[in-house]
Amino acid sequence: MGADQGEKSHYFHFSSKMEVINLPAVSRVAVCGGTHGNELSGVYLVREQQKKKEGAETFSLTTVMSNPRAVQQCRRYTETDLNRCFTTATLGTPISDRTPYEIVRSQELNTLLGPKGTDEAMDLICDLHNTTANMGLCLISYSACDWICLHIFKHLQKEMPTVPVRYIHFDVPQSEAYSLESVGKHGFSMEIGPQPHGVIRADIFNAMKEGIRLTLDWIHHFNSGVQFDGGEVEVYAMVKNIDYPRDMETHSITAAIHPQLQDHDFCLLHPGDPLFLTFSGKTETYKGVEPLYPFFVNECAYYEKGIALSLARRKRVAIPSIQVKTDCGKENGGEELKLEEKERTYDCSEDV
Ligand SMILES: [Zn+2]
Repeated sequence: MGADQGEKSHYFHFSSKMEVINLPAVSRVAVCGGTHGNELSGVYLVREQQKKKEGAETFSLTTVMSNPRAVQQCRRYTETDLNRCFTTATLGTPISDRTPYEIVRSQELNTLLGPKGTDEAMDLICDLHNTTANMGLCLISYSACDWICLHIFKHLQKEMPTVPVRYIHFDVPQSEAYSLESVGKHGFSMEIGPQPHGVIRADIFNAMKEGIRLTLDWIHHFNSGVQFDGGEVEVYAMVKNIDYPRDMETHSITAAIHPQLQDHDFCLLHPGDPLFLTFSGKTETYKGVEPLYPFFVNECAYYEKGIALSLARRKRVAIPSIQVKTDCGKENGGEELKLEEKERTYDCSEDV
């Protein structure tokens, strides 16, 4: 009678739709923008939300301008990237006169929205970002088994048929998770593009506005007792980053993203496919051994990080039916089922 049998048994019950997981209500929600001060959809949405001051019936909503100094200067950050400051180690760094502003600010935000890893932390943090890459709307999360985040994703995908909606999983332990949403009990970045930094586009702004509205709507229905059916969703699991070809001595880039790859985020990249076009006109190809899905292709802010694109593997993840836990409900909230993840590869044509 090993663990294997127990897992199979769970999977059978779930597959046969007999099991509903009861989870605690999502009572305290934060929507944050301006974590990167030049990603303007989130900046203007938070300003709009703060003018309205409207509450919700079944949860409290906090809206936060995460990096007001960077927003004022319309820059990504002033001294260091705020969205890399939320590891447990950085949040515990002693503050002195010479501490970068963003590290000080990350600790203020941890006090306001966390503390990270405690019962007092927000139930859900949604952090708003833009990318210059052609990624549509992506929820980026540190968990591929957070049923709240995955159900919100499923809801957005169903209700936003004209916008490509995807879920990206970064497999990083909670203590090393470096971005703002990791402070909450549940959390994701809502990343939408293409939009140049320092620019606002109505189509991208409206997609984010609708994404937030649907997220808050889902939370209200979940808290009100609506049961959400399980099913299967696709998750893009981060595999690795690829840097630009660079001059060995000067470290300056010697190639651009190849025109056949530019704007083709989430379109399956096969070994041998064009990756870069050097400034002398030579095509450099993808040398990997397995086909993977590119994303953050030619993201403006990642030149300084040495990232030309990221690559992901696509998986199918089974998610259970869920319902809010009530006093008379089953006491199995918080249980993490280990569900089978099936891998498949697909044709690009399915996605684009
Ligand atoms: Zn950002």
